[in-house]
Amino acid sequence: MREKVIIVKYGEIAMRGNNRKLFVARLVKAIRKNIDPFGNFYVALEQGRLVVESRGAEMDWEVLLPRITCIFGILGACPGWKLTDDAIEAIRAAACDLMKEQFDGHSSTFKVVTKRGNKKYPLDSNAISAEVGEAVLAALPQLTVDVHHPQQTLYVEVRNHVYLYTSFVPGWGGLPYGSSGKAISLLSGGIDSPTATFLMAKRGVEVEGVYFHTPPYTSERAKKKVESLAKILAGFTGGFTLHVVNFTKVQLYLLDHVPEEKLTIFLKRAMVHTAEQIALEQKAQALVMGDSVGQVASQTVPAIEAISSATQLPILRPLCGMDKQEIVDLAKKTGTFETSIEPYEDCCTVFVAKHPETKPKRSVIEAMERHLQALPELMAEAAAGRETMQF
Ligand code: ATP
Ligand code: MG
Repeated sequence: MREKVIIVKYGEIAMRGNNRKLFVARLVKAIRKNIDPFGNFYVALEQGRLVVESRGAEMDWEVLLPRITCIFGILGACPGWKLTDDAIEAIRAAACDLMKEQFDGHSSTFKVVTKRGNKKYPLDSNAISAEVGEAVLAALPQLTVDVHHPQQTLYVEVRNHVYLYTSFVPGWGGLPYGSSGKAISLLSGGIDSPTATFLMAKRGVEVEGVYFHTPPYTSERAKKKVESLAKILAGFTGGFTLHVVNFTKVQLYLLDHVPEEKLTIFLKRAMVHTAEQIALEQKAQALVMGDSVGQVASQTVPAIEAISSATQLPILRPLCGMDKQEIVDLAKKTGTFETSIEPYEDCCTVFVAKHPETKPKRSVIEAMERHLQALPELMAEAAAGRETMQF
């Protein structure tokens, strides 16, 4: 008996220690979440592997593989067969059938690579490879063995069960989600912040998003756009939490109380400070922002200094040294770009200065901010009244 499965490989090294079980459980949850819409599947634990098996659903590798390899912490996945009979005769027969299925009739070179996780198996890995290679050669005379540069490799893994496969589909890699701490990402509907969020999540940081909206100055569709981005990000991580903060009162207050050219800096500081409050509640140790140095006036180094001092937490800015085109290319690869360019602005022109200051002085900004007496309470109210959604 044999069945079509997907053999999932994950980064063992990042999974050392007590957290290993937790990370494996998270990977299983993320896989199940991504493939559940396609039918009834089961994710089995194997030695150092996860195996996706069908429970009556069609095992369509082309549909399922991309939904598995996108998950952070997964090195890649192999479409293959699981054998219920682990006798060497059964392995030989199945290997011949698999190679026949793949074989396009042209002559080709191949080799067999065996990994024997089950040390009780009566044959060692070299003997298994030799047995299987001999059977394949007899069944497919156009094939020849080349152990150094084979055109095809047939992998045999002998673990609790025996698995056969011929290809490996690489994933994004990264670290298991949640293995590097937690951060709150300031997520707008633009191109940059979803990409920054993606990069930090890829490095194992558990990320929750916070979006500041300004109804009625910003539209419901702008909010829906951020929700769509959160949903895309959830595909990489197994889930994504988004906090939506109504910032209208804060923005109107700032509009009334600060000089126009400084509005952007004050507004960013207010966002950072409010995000910090949420971070402390959610037990996060950092913030994430999508700034790229020099991209706009509020992203010069003096502006970054003047904004960053609004929080005690470190602000991770993974796009800092990237050019716009590099960010766009990455956003296209992650799949957020098409949503980000939908024409619903995350900020209304009422709140954008015509000539924003490019070299704000932190000390001046901080001194001015101390006079904005209603601001702390408005920010606290905004944070407390947030709407939280799970994707
Ligand atoms: P993005 O492409 O991420 O929208 P941007 O190029 O428009 O960024 P700015 O408007 O200067 O640049 O924003 C810098 C960063 O501030 C953003 O990357 C994001 O992290 C944060 N930010 C800006 N606006 C919002 C918002 N409405 N809600 C949450 N975070 C925001
Ligand atoms: Mg933006």
